[in-house]
Amino acid sequence: MAAQLIHGGPLAEQIRAELALEVKALNDQGKRVRLACVQVGEKPESVLYVKNQMKVAASLGIEFEMVQLPDAISQTALIHRIHELNQTPEITGIILELPLPTRINTFVCQRAIDPQKDAEGVHPVNLGLLVYGIAHHAPCTAMAAHQLIKATGVDLRGKEATIVGHSQIVGRPVSLMLLHDFCTVTTCHVATRDLAEHTRKADILVVAVGKPGLIRAEMVKPGAMVIDVGVNRVPVLGPDGKQALNDKGKPAFRTVGDVDYEPVEKIAGWITPVPGGVGPLTVTMLLRNVVEAAKHFHPMSL
Ligand code: NAP
Repeated sequence: MAAQLIHGGPLAEQIRAELALEVKALNDQGKRVRLACVQVGEKPESVLYVKNQMKVAASLGIEFEMVQLPDAISQTALIHRIHELNQTPEITGIILELPLPTRINTFVCQRAIDPQKDAEGVHPVNLGLLVYGIAHHAPCTAMAAHQLIKATGVDLRGKEATIVGHSQIVGRPVSLMLLHDFCTVTTCHVATRDLAEHTRKADILVVAVGKPGLIRAEMVKPGAMVIDVGVNRVPVLGPDGKQALNDKGKPAFRTVGDVDYEPVEKIAGWITPVPGGVGPLTVTMLLRNVVEAAKHFHPMSL
């Protein structure tokens, strides 16, 4: 039997509607919710991403301030600008768009953000609070994956969960979130000796690597819940096996996850599509962090 699809779009809409009400309640009391987006240099690849953040923020009543800094800015000057934003009361959330130029230490700059304004949930204080299960802000993509798992209503207690990938923003925080749900968690990475041995035992399989086709059907337990976080652009092949062209005559690409979708969908119990699974929820989770941050700055009973 084909797997049930876990779509991110409807859940994202539902959460956005709740967030819009919370923002309105804050605004009605004269309290602003304002997100500063710090970008170093012009990055064509992140234009769409930032535009989407801006659009969704506006739809929720969240003010958005673009802080565009020159590509040549020094690390000291960037940290100084972040400190200024920390001290600006009207700014209730801060995002630092990545990647930064290689001469700048990303971790040091993320650490400069006031943990209470950390919209992306990546400050070491917030990651530390996640260990205790009391973080107000957690990494957005990890939260998105976790929300989708919870939305299925499946009882997680005692389930085997395997997480493939151990990045700070996805694999590790998802592992902690599922540990708090009393799953038995296995986290895999590049040094894992036999990946299939661990994926095959998983009732819940979260894959966040960035390698198309990494998870094949024979690596998945029948009936498992499969959350595919990966986003990969792969060439579209024509009948002759060569890369097809799009309607503008340019080489055509499509977006796929890390899971070999068609065969896995036939045996899994639940699966997220790519695109349309984790992706639509990620920006929503970012803005949830912004609203949580604003509530923290403006304590009120909502
Ligand atoms: P990342 O920082 O590159 O981390 C990838 C992880 O996979 C690393 O921990 C890496 O281990 C591990 N890995 C690499 N090869 C492996 C293998 N063969 N078996 C097991 N683990 C392996 O990437 P990320 O930021 O976590 O993102 C992961 C994927 O999610 C990417 O495709 C990214 O585009 C996507 N993503 C999607 C969203 C969304 O909204 N849908 C948001 C963010 C990211 P090592 O560190 O030891 O090399």
